[in-house]
Amino acid sequence: MKYVLVTGGVVSGLGKGVTASSIGVVLEACGLRVTSIKIDPYLNTDAGTMSPFEHGEVFVLDDGGEVDLDLGNYERFLDVTLTKDNNITTGKIYQSVLEKERKGDYLGKTVQVVPHITDAIKDWIESVSLIPVDGKEGQADVCVIELGGTVGDIESMPFIEALRQLSFSVGQENFCLIHVSLIPVLGVVGEQKTKPTQHSVRELRALGLTPHFLACRSAQPLLEATKAKLSQFCHVPAANILNIHDVPNIWHVPLLLRNQNAYHSILKQLNLTSVATAPDLD
Ligand code: ADP
Repeated sequence: MKYVLVTGGVVSGLGKGVTASSIGVVLEACGLRVTSIKIDPYLNTDAGTMSPFEHGEVFVLDDGGEVDLDLGNYERFLDVTLTKDNNITTGKIYQSVLEKERKGDYLGKTVQVVPHITDAIKDWIESVSLIPVDGKEGQADVCVIELGGTVGDIESMPFIEALRQLSFSVGQENFCLIHVSLIPVLGVVGEQKTKPTQHSVRELRALGLTPHFLACRSAQPLLEATKAKLSQFCHVPAANILNIHDVPNIWHVPLLLRNQNAYHSILKQLNLTSVATAPDLD
């Protein structure tokens, strides 16, 4: 299994869900089978009890799972049918670990966030990524994992650590990290600012994860000088800096990625160039 992890920096509501779904669309258009997992680092077991005013619509899956609306994006973009286990929350992970603890499964050990919670996260991801979601038999080629929240949040730390361990155990050619970040423009100066992204990449690297791609959210297309600066200070090749500027309709985002040849570098990172074709999105 190949994993594409999408993280977010600087602020929430950046468009991680739309970016992750669009990457899935591009990979599907390259002839690959794609599944997805959304991680929500909140303690609610699922989104069913959360106010839609605070959190947006609750998306109800075919198996009755009440989940985050991003899973609706994935189902619509990727034409898949997800299960409630494709939405991982802190609540679900703790519930499963505490149930095991009460049954005595840990054989007298002290049950801790590391390794027991992080192991439960890794096991969950590895087993759910194998469930076919596109109506065909056998496992998908790529699992797109979206980590909700913003890198550096206390509540997402066990997930970051579990994903760091996962990236190490599956190996370089099976793991691709795309960090979605904000490039603001200061009104008076009118300049695209890279510093918030530099800080969030530094934070990610301090936690042991190195982004292979930056997906930059900005009002207007990125200038070449902004890209060069991001590349130099964030240690990401300029060709791997993708620009997802504001578009009038989110269905344009997969086309933005296709037009920047994002698929080429992602396939290369995942060592899939020999099995994939050029994306057919027209
Ligand atoms: P996150 O997962 O980071 O919380 P979402 O993917 O849910 O963010 O997107 C937040 C909002 O931004 C949604 O209303 C979405 O439609 C919008 N959005 C995302 N990407 C773009 C874009 N490139 N242009 C315009 N709107 C976007």
